[in-house]
Amino acid sequence: MTRASWPLPSVWPLLSVLLLTSGPADAARPTPGIADPLGIAWTRSHQFFASETLPFPTAHRLAPAFADGDRLASWMFPYTSNHDADAEALAAELLNETSFVRSSFTGARADAFFRERLASYLAEIIASVTAEPVLLARLLDNHEDCFAVIDSVAELTSDRPPFAGLDPHAGLANGCNLEVITTLPLWYLAGASAGGPGADLSVPMFLLPTYERYLVQHEFGHMLEANLFDLPVSDAGETLPAAIDRLYAQAQVAPGAFASCYAATNAAEYWAEATALYFSPLPIGSLNGGDGNEPYGGSPCSVGPTPEARAIVKQLGLADISGAALLAALQPDLATLLEAVYGPPPFFSLR
Ligand SMILES: [Zn+2]
Repeated sequence: MTRASWPLPSVWPLLSVLLLTSGPADAARPTPGIADPLGIAWTRSHQFFASETLPFPTAHRLAPAFADGDRLASWMFPYTSNHDADAEALAAELLNETSFVRSSFTGARADAFFRERLASYLAEIIASVTAEPVLLARLLDNHEDCFAVIDSVAELTSDRPPFAGLDPHAGLANGCNLEVITTLPLWYLAGASAGGPGADLSVPMFLLPTYERYLVQHEFGHMLEANLFDLPVSDAGETLPAAIDRLYAQAQVAPGAFASCYAATNAAEYWAEATALYFSPLPIGSLNGGDGNEPYGGSPCSVGPTPEARAIVKQLGLADISGAALLAALQPDLATLLEAVYGPPPFFSLR
């Protein structure tokens, strides 16, 4: 891909399998495996997080009916943070005063719900950025045609401009446009009342709502780098792209410094992964390994956190290490840069 857009390789086939797979709730039933591109099967939380204990109630694994928007929103992201007040105000502004946040859902209720989610996820980052006025001016005021869009069910990032013609990806971004797929097919959320095939399934859904947010914030990390390319991020005047390149090079020669498999792909993905993880209450990672995982020889680091990251999660417990804390443990200099750009990491509590 050119520097103008940064792909997150398609996870649509993987997500489709996830959604159709029975989950960990019923131990008596056989649990089909999910084969990732390198053949490592994982279906349960410990296989992704190295922990069986999820840091939120079991009820959050199953979606409530789509009819209840607030409840569904809580299910999608069952946390509050110390950024919420600022983020809520900014999210309202993004929705009301600009056409920046869009969805391609045709139903009014679904359109409103997913636009609100998208605005919320974007606002959580934007409101914390130390150069927020510059970012908003460049992104919104100076470019009327810039937008972030969440796709309707079964749509792909290659369906329409500006990313038409590219290979389908879970998300794409450039300096002006951002597009992510919907990881939550509504037939599942509709449940039994709609007669959907997901009505009686218990699947590892806990990952998917969190991943929708992670996906948005990963892509926004690309957008932010493109818009704040010339601002100094240190007293010495180093720019953000220069600092990212320097730290990516540092991670390449420091065994075990990468937090997620996909972060090893290149400097741009390294920064996007760092951004998403910095704002994640869970120490997760993109569902793709992608190219460029030479530090791991392509295996076993193919999905989610790296083996080194999983070891830390296993040692401390999933509920006791946030994404930002994981990054700080793996590469302290990266945490320093993130704090310069985004301020202190958010503090999360369960709702
Ligand atoms: Zn990316």
